[in-house]
Amino acid sequence: MQAGKNSFEKFLREAKDTLGFCAVSALSMNSDTYPRLLERLKEAYVADGKVTHDWPGYMQRTSGKRADPRTVFPWAKSLAVISMPFNGIPINNNFLPEAAEDCIAGLVAGYAGRIDYHTFLQDNIYIFSAALKKYLGKDFRSEIFVDTKPVAEKSLAAFSGLGAIGLNSCLLCKGEGSGTCLGILAMDIDLPETEPVDFDAPCTTCGKCVERCPTGAITGKPGVFIYKKCRSYLTMEKKGVLEKDEAVLLGDWIFGCDICTSLCPGSHPMTPIKADLEWLLLEKDSIVKDVIKSTALEYPGLKLLRRNALAVLENRDSSESHELARKFSSIG
Ligand code: SF4
Ligand code: SF4
Repeated sequence: MQAGKNSFEKFLREAKDTLGFCAVSALSMNSDTYPRLLERLKEAYVADGKVTHDWPGYMQRTSGKRADPRTVFPWAKSLAVISMPFNGIPINNNFLPEAAEDCIAGLVAGYAGRIDYHTFLQDNIYIFSAALKKYLGKDFRSEIFVDTKPVAEKSLAAFSGLGAIGLNSCLLCKGEGSGTCLGILAMDIDLPETEPVDFDAPCTTCGKCVERCPTGAITGKPGVFIYKKCRSYLTMEKKGVLEKDEAVLLGDWIFGCDICTSLCPGSHPMTPIKADLEWLLLEKDSIVKDVIKSTALEYPGLKLLRRNALAVLENRDSSESHELARKFSSIG
């Protein structure tokens, strides 16, 4: 069937409610509005001076692709942009061993204690895609991306009306704040575009994340976020040795940071998880690797997690923490 606009938007609303998404939007790459999107992406990613900003290397290397989705999926005609709240993702009951009250602990961002959002969101987008095929009564080529391709998900989401990009550099979805993850379904069929929602991000009157970010990554200027100071970047994306000033920025966190997303109005706050650093550093590699397998901690991997744990220990004015760091170094 040919999707009528009203019927299609009703289908999207029902799919969103059934699958626990915050919102779903559709973008047509053949529409009159698509050139405007390309202009916006160009301005965000490749306009003069942009690439030399303080971006992580992978973003600098892929900025050209981020500026034009067709370079990533040249065969696609439409994109569905989908957001899901982290608090709607089931808890992972086989996460890290429980940390005793008196253990030497480091902090892990709360979303990591849920089933890995990449897998969970991907599975749900797959169900969405199957439902869309049934609704349209035809098969089509499709691919799902959840952090797996250099796509400007946040810009695409904001352009198609899913929300606004906040000062904390996260997508703010209406009613869900910053605590969401994003995925994209690329399709080789034409779909009606969804209407952008009328949503002004409360950043101009809020500024809480600017005040509370402990590292200075959030500058308070729209579009200017210093990735290299953010704990999420430092604990997961920064490879190799941490410089002394980078190690200090980690504070107590060995993986990510929940502060600016949890305090954003409308968000469902995440509770950081305590990780027993003695276990992480001194347990057999094979056992720790087995525990973090298929969780968000598998992305940085054991080597980076231990590097971060050592930085956290060094950040503390505690002989017990320094002794644990020495013990690890002596067996490593
Ligand atoms: S905490 Fe406030 S200023 Fe920061 S992103 Fe959220 S709404 Fe914007
Ligand atoms: S995740 Fe933490 S370090 Fe990064 S910007 Fe937010 S508050 Fe700052």
